[in-house]
Amino acid sequence: MSGTFCQPDPIRCPYCVQDNEFRIMLDLSGGVGGMFYCAGCRHLVRMEVPDFQCLCRACMNLRGAVALVETGRVVPIADQAKREKSPERAMRPLSRSSAAR
Ligand SMILES: [Zn+2]
Ligand SMILES: [Zn+2]
Repeated sequence: MSGTFCQPDPIRCPYCVQDNEFRIMLDLSGGVGGMFYCAGCRHLVRMEVPDFQCLCRACMNLRGAVALVETGRVVPIADQAKREKSPERAMRPLSRSSAAR
């Protein structure tokens, strides 16, 4: 008997907040645990593909912001504030790199 019935912690979407918690992502791999999908923002996670690039809007925004910083172009503050207005993104933990300073 192994821990088959012991559910591991669910994978949560870093972009969507539901009931004061990050939204639990759907397991697309049928229990194998390799692929997760967020029905809220279409964020996709693939455990077996480390450099898999998700094409959801949140990830595209994130990569766009990083690219701008790397090329020396800074996103106008007003533009960032507009995007941050959505309460769903207020707790975004991945915004550290662009918003910290
Ligand atoms: Zn999401
Ligand atoms: Zn994504």
